[in-house]
Amino acid sequence: MGFFDKIKKAFMNEKEVKPAELDATEEANDASEEPAAETNQEEPKTLESEQEQLSAENSQEPEPQAEPEANIEVEKEIPSTTSVEKEEAAEEIVVQEKYEKGLEKTRKTFGERLNELFANFRSVDEDFFEELEETLIGADVGFDTAIKITESLRQEVKLRNVKKPAAVQNTIIEKMVDLYEAEGIGENNALNIQKDGLTVMLFVGVNGVGKTTSIGKLAHQFKQEGKKVLLAAADTFRAGAIDQLVVWGERAGVEVVRGNAGGDPAAVVFDAVERAKTENADVLLVDTAGRLQNKVNLMNELEKIKRVIQREIPEAPHEVLLVVDATTGQNAMSQAKQFKETTDVTGLILSKLDGTAKGGIVLAIRNELHLPVKLVGLGEGIDDLEPFDANDFALGLFKGLLKEE
Ligand code: GDP
Ligand code: MG
Repeated sequence: MGFFDKIKKAFMNEKEVKPAELDATEEANDASEEPAAETNQEEPKTLESEQEQLSAENSQEPEPQAEPEANIEVEKEIPSTTSVEKEEAAEEIVVQEKYEKGLEKTRKTFGERLNELFANFRSVDEDFFEELEETLIGADVGFDTAIKITESLRQEVKLRNVKKPAAVQNTIIEKMVDLYEAEGIGENNALNIQKDGLTVMLFVGVNGVGKTTSIGKLAHQFKQEGKKVLLAAADTFRAGAIDQLVVWGERAGVEVVRGNAGGDPAAVVFDAVERAKTENADVLLVDTAGRLQNKVNLMNELEKIKRVIQREIPEAPHEVLLVVDATTGQNAMSQAKQFKETTDVTGLILSKLDGTAKGGIVLAIRNELHLPVKLVGLGEGIDDLEPFDANDFALGLFKGLLKEE
């Protein structure tokens, strides 16, 4: 049942048990209807009778459990918590809505700047293109990418002899999707998951980017699909890092192989691979430490981990996923460049897209680093990780801007 159906049903059948947010919405509605009802009264009521009536009404109503301000937004934010009912509610929220919500910040700034651009320019001229280029660069799509987009738009405008900015509005959006997809032609963005046997995925990236969180989210998804999942706490650098993975393991309901803080990460990975094999696990997700300030050590550590895995499973790891934080903009780009030089990264997880107004970074990574963005983090909750989809992304970014043609 969709969210709006649920609201409709809640209004039609007051007896039904409803989420607190819906009660609150309903109460707010009741309150706004009351003055109108009063003006219809022929005789003025005494204060007393009014109160009586109010309390009588209250007794029929369930106790309000939330502030009247609670609204649709509140309902949509449910996936960021983890209790069972909320997980069920989250399942009803489709991927597109997650993208819309996750890209709210980017849409507000980038989208609104684009809107202003369309409103302020009378014709598609050189000034318009310059301003567009700046807007795109401001959204972190990257310098080269911004130029590519405006260049292909220039050609299109010439070809179609377009004069009005409004006429190119949708074309800009199309060009951005085209550009992303053209880069990835012949390439599969899906995670490389073995049909039979164990799939091993290594998660790399600097501290704080969201490795452990992404592992927790992914573990939950695999578990939901009925897979047997095992996690390896190979970020042994800090005790806190191990504990954090254990907490995510509990949330997702999967086991964590751990060693002591300060211990050898490769030893933990060795234990984890052994256990995954004896227990016939389907997926092993390996958390690693990310100390980019010591590049040589980090590289050696990752190589050692890989060797340990490959001794047991020659074709593994099946994915080396680099996690970068979208809110760090160009910094994320330089991290990706450095990791790409030191490790065979197979794909990217772009975390915290919900926390940035510069979601254009997806395009920059694609066009300037030639790495596929495989997953995007759209929030802190267990359900807030989605496979990257260029169309969902564009729709989330431009919702309300796309014009019907
Ligand atoms: P790690 O050091 O790479 O393992 O990073 P963590 O997994 O510990 O994440 C660091 C912080 O980023 C935590 O507070 C997470 O809740 C937060 N985080 C991770 N992914 C996302 C995301 O997609 N959106 C938001 N808003 N926060 C995220
Ligand atoms: Mg971590």
